[in-house]
Amino acid sequence: MSRIESEALVVRTVEVGEADVIATLVTQQAGKLSAIVRGARKGSRRVGGALEPVHTIAVLLEDRGAELVTLKESRIVRTRAGVVASLDALDAAGTALRWARHLFPPRTPEPEGWRILIELLDVLDAGHAAPRAELARAGLGLLAAVGYALDLGRCVVCGRECPESKAACIDPARGGLVCRSCGGAATVLLPEVRAAARSLGEGQTTSATASEAETILQVVDRAMAAHAGFER
Ligand SMILES: [Zn+2]
Repeated sequence: MSRIESEALVVRTVEVGEADVIATLVTQQAGKLSAIVRGARKGSRRVGGALEPVHTIAVLLEDRGAELVTLKESRIVRTRAGVVASLDALDAAGTALRWARHLFPPRTPEPEGWRILIELLDVLDAGHAAPRAELARAGLGLLAAVGYALDLGRCVVCGRECPESKAACIDPARGGLVCRSCGGAATVLLPEVRAAARSLGEGQTTSATASEAETILQVVDRAMAAHAGFER
């Protein structure tokens, strides 16, 4: 049996039996894990209140190599009251955590994915940025972090550069642009939307407009669905 000590984010909790909870965690040290939390619903003092999403928690886990690890201790180490207080921020945080739950493989550390999630939650907590644009930035980053970066410059079939000044077709499930000679795709990105997506994807602070952010989010969501195969 080994012990895992790590910071973590709760991405889902499911009640089991009379008093227990299975928590899906994204941990900094060991990646995504499912943990059984005994007595969680009887107000256990060891884990009391520390299983809410959005806050960063520190966990002590017992790992016997089985599918489920056992959560022994948890406490909140970074509270994000600003996220909890805003419906838009809470919604963006919930979407990003859901993406991580489906996209991250189990028991695989994802340092870049972890960094992106924490950065998003902190930005949302501060409340100065547009939640939907920040969510779009995080989504593009998460896809890239797990090896599914969207190619917004070249056709994914023939590799030809798509001129920046022109509208381009994108097929999120195929990983990026598909030029017209290669059959195109149903979704068309206008030049300004593609430019906004590229700058967000590069992590730049240039904010997309609200409507650009929505278009980019639709593309990101479809790419997530294609790669992680999850219900939308
Ligand atoms: Zn092509």
